Amino acid sequence: MKVLEKAPAKINLSLDVLGKRGDGYHEVRMIMTSIDLADRVECGDLPENQIEVRASVPYVPEDERNFAYQAAHHIKAKYGIRRGVEITITKNIPVAAGLAGGSTDAAATIRALNRLWKLGMSYQEMLAVAEQIGSDVAFCLKGGTALATGRGEQLEALPPLPPCWVVLVKPTVSVSTAQIYKDLDSRPIEHPDVDAMLHAIDAGDFESICRLLGNCLEPVTMRKVADIAKIKSHMKEIGAEGILMSGSGPTVFALTQHESRMQRLINGMRGYCSQVYAVRLCKPFPLV
Ligand code: ATP
Repeated sequence: MKVLEKAPAKINLSLDVLGKRGDGYHEVRMIMTSIDLADRVECGDLPENQIEVRASVPYVPEDERNFAYQAAHHIKAKYGIRRGVEITITKNIPVAAGLAGGSTDAAATIRALNRLWKLGMSYQEMLAVAEQIGSDVAFCLKGGTALATGRGEQLEALPPLPPCWVVLVKPTVSVSTAQIYKDLDSRPIEHPDVDAMLHAIDAGDFESICRLLGNCLEPVTMRKVADIAKIKSHMKEIGAEGILMSGSGPTVFALTQHESRMQRLINGMRGYCSQVYAVRLCKPFPLV
């Protein structure tokens, strides 16, 4: 038997770092929303008691470094499963791009194995597995729009954003999240106004959401990737309503409610970068 799960990417609407914790992680306060740019994760039974991962692109690890592998490993250990599984990942989300591609594959694997092995896991039980893998996996389990605090694993669901297009531009370079956080520690932090963004989302105020987009990692990554500033100013010229780098970057996204502007952004940005996407927002998974 095989089960298929969709694994949507996320963008950060607001990302603040409050400080470094004793356990080495950073204390964050961030608002994320899932978008309709998604990997496909298929889990199927294997006759032998083993975990096999296949990824559709060569630069994603297929061993225990893959977050989907880790999800299967933790579930097998926790529930005493002695069956084997083959996990096939079709990557559509750019890798190491600030879009939580690996985390969402892990979250999709948890949802898929719960179905494949009929484990009847509650959302809380899935969260316990997610937290063992990485900070963004917890958010990716349900997706939607949420405030994430702690190291990113404490979640509060928020109302959905007003309908809009998300245009994403991925510069050719990739960045290491760990290195960006390390660089952040040696400089003053420019804090975004997370509370004001929470109010704007509550009010469904698209203009304010665009104005309040903020990410304290953006200036850090910008020092390494000169293309980010160029992409931002070009998107602004074309007329995007709100523009920001997602996560630790280097992907830049723009929000717009106008289809014609979305088309202009795609056409204009394709001249600059080969990886340009226009997607809608994604609803949360109905987990309880
Ligand atoms: P985040 O936004 O959560 O910081 P990211 O989008 O910047 O993540 P990922 O695409 O998750 O980055 O990739 C980061 C690293 O994780 C990659 O370099 C890759 O080696 C590793 N990785 C492990 N599992 C996966 C997976 N299923 N898909 C992609 N990368 C994976």
